[in-house]
Amino acid sequence: MPSLFEPSDEHRQLRDMVRSFAESKVEPQAAEHDRNETFNVDLFRQLGELGLLGITVDEEYGGTGMGPLETCIAHEELSAVDPGFTLAFLAHALLCANNLNQNGSHEQKQKYLPGLCDGSLIGGMCMSEPGAGTDVLGMRTTARRDGDHYVLDGAKMWITNGAISDTELGDVFLVYARMQGAGRNELTMFIVEKGFEGFQLGQKIHDKLGMRASTTAELVFDGCRVPAENLVGEEGTAMMHMMRNLEIERLGLAAMSLGIARRCVEIMNEYAKDRKSFGEPLNRYGQIQRHIAESYAEWMAGRAYTYEYASRMSLDEPGTRLDSDGVKLFCSTMGKNVADRAIQVLGGYGYVGEYRVERLWRDAKLLEIGGGTIEAHQKNMTRDLSRMTKLR
Ligand SMILES: Cc1cc2nc3c(=O)[nH]c(=O)nc-3n(C[C@H](O)[C@H](O)[C@H](O)COP(=O)(O)OP(=O)(O)OC[C@H]3O[C@@H](n4cnc5c(N)ncnc54)[C@H](O)[C@@H]3O)c2cc1C
Repeated sequence: MPSLFEPSDEHRQLRDMVRSFAESKVEPQAAEHDRNETFNVDLFRQLGELGLLGITVDEEYGGTGMGPLETCIAHEELSAVDPGFTLAFLAHALLCANNLNQNGSHEQKQKYLPGLCDGSLIGGMCMSEPGAGTDVLGMRTTARRDGDHYVLDGAKMWITNGAISDTELGDVFLVYARMQGAGRNELTMFIVEKGFEGFQLGQKIHDKLGMRASTTAELVFDGCRVPAENLVGEEGTAMMHMMRNLEIERLGLAAMSLGIARRCVEIMNEYAKDRKSFGEPLNRYGQIQRHIAESYAEWMAGRAYTYEYASRMSLDEPGTRLDSDGVKLFCSTMGKNVADRAIQVLGGYGYVGEYRVERLWRDAKLLEIGGGTIEAHQKNMTRDLSRMTKLR
C-alpha cells in the first residue's frame, strides 16, 4: 500500500535494503565504536556500494540521483541502529557531496564527486568556528587571492569527518570563508583537500556525550593555499549555497531523530510486554502506557510532518526554511524525549548499554544542537512567520 512514507514500490525497496544493511552490518558494531570513540571507515565505504554516499548526486557524477524523500528513508533507517555512524553519513552525503553537486562547476564535480560517491574519498563541510556557531556570519576565517591561488587563514570547529582517526584528516572539505574586506553576508566557498599546504588537523575532539561513532575535529587553515579553480561559484555568493544546503541538512537530521524514536518505541514496547512487576506485565500500568502511547503518537506526528515536507521540498531551490527548521525543531526534541521515556520504562536496565536506549538518548541530544540549535530554529521560524498573516 503506498503511504506518505513509502509512496512507491521503489521507496519500500529502498527502506528494506537500508534496513537490512543497518540491522545486519551497522547494528553489530555500533556499541563498540560508541565506546571507543572510533569511526568505522571500512563499513562507511560500503555505503558507497549501496549507492547511498551520493544519494542526491547526479548519476553522471557517480551518484544515485535521488531526492529528499529517499534521503529521509536512508537517514531514518541507519539512525535507528547507529546515529553516530549516520551523522558521519549525513556530513559526507548531504553537507559535502550534495552541496558540491548543487553548487560546484562541471569540472569540480567531475574531479571530486565520483570518489565521494564510491567512498574512496571522505568528505565534510566547515562552517562553524570556535567563536561562531549560531552566529555563523560572525565567522573569522578569511581568504585572499594570491596569483593562481587563494590563501585561507582561520580555524573551523566541530567538523564531522574532519578527522578519520586521532591523527588523520578526512579527504575533502567545503570550507566557508570571507574574502578580506567583504561584507557580513558575502561568504565564499572553497574545496580544500587533505595535503594542501597550510591545512592541518587542529585536534580530534574527545569525550563527546553522544555521536561518538562519528569523529568531530577542529581544523586549522594557516596560510592554506587553495588553487583558484577550487573556488565554488563566485566570490561572495556562498550564503545562497549555505542556505540551500541547510534545508536538506535539517531534513536529514530530523529523519535521524525519527529513527531514534522508532527504535526506542520498539524497545520499550517489547520490554513492557515481558517485564513483570507486582505479578503483571509493565504495559498493564497506566503510567507505562502513557510513556509508550504518547511516544508512538509523537513519533508518527513527527514522521508525518517530516515526510510531508520532504515530498514538497526541492534540492534546487531554497525557500522552505520555515519547515526545514520546523521538522528539526519538532523531531529533535521529540526523539530525545522518546529516548528518555524508553530509559524510564526499562528502569535500571535502561540505564546501561545492553538495551541500547541509553546510547540512543545520548545521541539524540546532539540533534537539538548540531545543524542549528533549537533556539536558532525558533528564531528563524518566528522571523519567517512574522512575514505571514494567513497560513494554509
Ligand atoms: C557533534 C557535533 C558535530 C558538528 N558537526 C558540524 C559540521 O560538520 N560542520 C559545521 O560547520 N558545524 C558542525 N557542528 C557545529 C554546530 O552546528 C554548532 O555547535 C551549532 O551551530 C551551535 O553553535 P555553538 O556550538 O557555537 O553554540 P552557540 O552559538 O555559542 O550557542 C550557545 C547557546 O546559545 C544559544 N544562542 C546563541 N545565539 C542565540 C540567540 N541569538 N538567541 C537565543 N539563543 C542563542 C544557542 O541556541 C545555544 O543554546 C557540530 C557540532 C557538534 C556538537
